Amino acid sequence: MTIVEQISTLEELAVADAELKVVGEELANERASLSQRKSTLRALEERITKDRAHLVAVEKLKTDYIIEVRTMMQQVDHSRDKMNRSRTERETNAVTREFEELRKLMRDREDEIGKLSTDADSARQSLDSIEAEAKLLASELGENEGAINTKLGMLDASFAAKSALRAEIVKRLPSIVFRRYDQVRGKRGSGLAQTTDGTCKACHMSLPPQLFHKLRREPMLEQCPSCARVIYYQAPVAIADPAAKA
Ligand SMILES: [Zn+2]
Repeated sequence: MTIVEQISTLEELAVADAELKVVGEELANERASLSQRKSTLRALEERITKDRAHLVAVEKLKTDYIIEVRTMMQQVDHSRDKMNRSRTERETNAVTREFEELRKLMRDREDEIGKLSTDADSARQSLDSIEAEAKLLASELGENEGAINTKLGMLDASFAAKSALRAEIVKRLPSIVFRRYDQVRGKRGSGLAQTTDGTCKACHMSLPPQLFHKLRREPMLEQCPSCARVIYYQAPVAIADPAAKA
């Protein structure tokens, strides 16, 4: 394989690698976004289960307190009767104390029932909104599942096809050239660079004049001393003068 052939094969490889990188990134993004939405949904579902249990506990406590208050009301009635029946001052005082204590306990419980009601209302509201959010996300995922899988399948197929194409290109290259290219590509994301004016087009550093002179004299593959990419000379492309059309 001549140097000119090696250069054009490396160019093909660089194109294939750039395409693979794009497809690979798109594939990773799609997968990440899908798994992120799924884990968001899972987190919402866990939260719903927890919030529902909390709501049930609050409602249960509230019911318990309501029953307690009812019992206390009966006791208050009972105390009132006892008060009416009491004959001595001592008896009256004792019953009054009992009555006041009961009234205080009842008020406390009623306050707590009020707080629990507020608690339950806000818990129910937040549960409603989380359930709505989860429902929306679940239906979105459900509706798009087919489309997402199709897209992932297409990207997978495209990645596989491009990988196969790359393997074919690699086979044609002398292994030493490929290894040099691929080592830099692994580190820097791309392995091939050109120079037209004495600077490396990939890292924009100036090449030593001797090296540039050597590259320009005849087709040759070298490595950029700054970025280590495989580098070769590319003749300047004549830019069409738009005024020439007129
Ligand atoms: Zn360079």
